[in-house]
Amino acid sequence: MKNYQPVIGLEIHVELKTFSKMFCQCSASYFKKEPNTQVCPVCLGLPGALPVPNKKAIEWTVLIVKALNCQINYFSKFDRKHYFYPDLPKGYQISQYDEPIGQNGKFEIKDSKFEIKKMIRIRRVHLEEDTGKLIHSKNGTLIDFNRAGVPLVEIVTEPDFDNSDDVKRFLEELQVLIRYLGVSDADMEKGTMRMEPNISIKTQNSNTNSQNLPNYKVEVKNINSFRFVKQAIDYEIERQIEILKEGRQPIQETRGFDEKKGATYSQRTKEEAYDYRYFPEPDIPPLV
Ligand code: ADP
Ligand code: MG
Ligand code: ZN
Repeated sequence: MKNYQPVIGLEIHVELKTFSKMFCQCSASYFKKEPNTQVCPVCLGLPGALPVPNKKAIEWTVLIVKALNCQINYFSKFDRKHYFYPDLPKGYQISQYDEPIGQNGKFEIKDSKFEIKKMIRIRRVHLEEDTGKLIHSKNGTLIDFNRAGVPLVEIVTEPDFDNSDDVKRFLEELQVLIRYLGVSDADMEKGTMRMEPNISIKTQNSNTNSQNLPNYKVEVKNINSFRFVKQAIDYEIERQIEILKEGRQPIQETRGFDEKKGATYSQRTKEEAYDYRYFPEPDIPPLV
């Protein structure tokens, strides 16, 4: 084992290009639309409004699940994930917690000759709804709810990467796959494909958890191109190795990425970790 071994896992969000939103009949295409024109009581979270799942979105999620060689869960359900933020009108997001549509898959990274280089395990694939968009201006912050309730698929990998080149390659392959399936534009610049890498560094004398991984990880948010993903990961690897070299321990935290500086910066630390109070969505019966 090398002295400092990077451990990287990915959380990827893909917005489905269905005609309507996840739980209502509003149009799911919000790009360049007048703010707050594609909304209704359901996606605005008004009292008494009831969600009805989008069948197409579920079928398309199953397509992704199959393409990623996952097991399809023939029993699946939605759960409420609670947190308070102005872009989340209900105060919770309808997501999936312990019964995702798919899990335990794998996806190959190929090299430039299309030979299989590495197998990345897929932990889970689940379906949820997107949030609204905050627009910051000098006069304050405005909220556009056109994106609220758009179907969003989350793909979570196991921490099977050890370098940023493989991550980039994986994401490029995944983008091709998603586009081929015809379920999303998977465009990083437009935000229809978003990703958050989790990074830690393993050493000979790391404190490890039950899976033999470092007992901390740093999640980097708000990255919107393949190039920046690579930059952010490389920066984090270097930053964390520096800390370890000084005999200190990197802390578990969420960091943002500054494109101009090519650097990450601390956003929130473990002490402020969310308690999402997950529980089954009572307004939607399980999917069988
Ligand atoms: P959380 O419950 O905080 O979301 P998870 O265990 O579900 O954490 O993992 C989220 C992501 O972080 C996954 O992509 C996983 O592969 C990755 N991950 C988990 N542990 C580590 C680690 N020690 N270093 C790097 N990535 C990790
Ligand atoms: Mg997570
Ligand atoms: Zn709506």
